[in-house]
Amino acid sequence: MLSQPTDRQLVDRALTDYTAKGWRIVSQSDSGFQVAEPKKLSSLGMALFVILPAVFGCVLFLIVPSYGIPVLVIAGIGLLIVLADYAVKKEQLHYITADYLRATAPTWILPSATGGVMCAMCGMSVTVTTKTCPQCKRPLVVSAAVHAGLKQP
Ligand SMILES: [Zn+2]
Repeated sequence: MLSQPTDRQLVDRALTDYTAKGWRIVSQSDSGFQVAEPKKLSSLGMALFVILPAVFGCVLFLIVPSYGIPVLVIAGIGLLIVLADYAVKKEQLHYITADYLRATAPTWILPSATGGVMCAMCGMSVTVTTKTCPQCKRPLVVSAAVHAGLKQP
């Protein structure tokens, strides 16, 4: 079975994960922490208002330069709008508690009495390829016991 980590261990592990993802740690304690989700440029805005007109403008410029230039100007304005949108966006703050981390920690897929496999946390019948338990919503990891069973002829 999984060992039971302390609040502090859960918090430390999660802090490392969030920092690695580029999230900014706002505050922390032994039982939880607050993180800011990094802002992202609008990829849809970039595609529609910058990349599309830029590509179209370049092609047009090669054919009829005087038509291509206004389209390239539009791409430039699009870029300014997307950057302005990014600048005014607010960072999303999330409060992560040790209780939350414990409730969403991965659990094992174990052999069940009926010959199938089940979620170790809630006993829900799953398959070895299930990634998230449909009942308790935890990420699932195939246990060594199930791996051993799978290798049997
Ligand atoms: Zn479950």
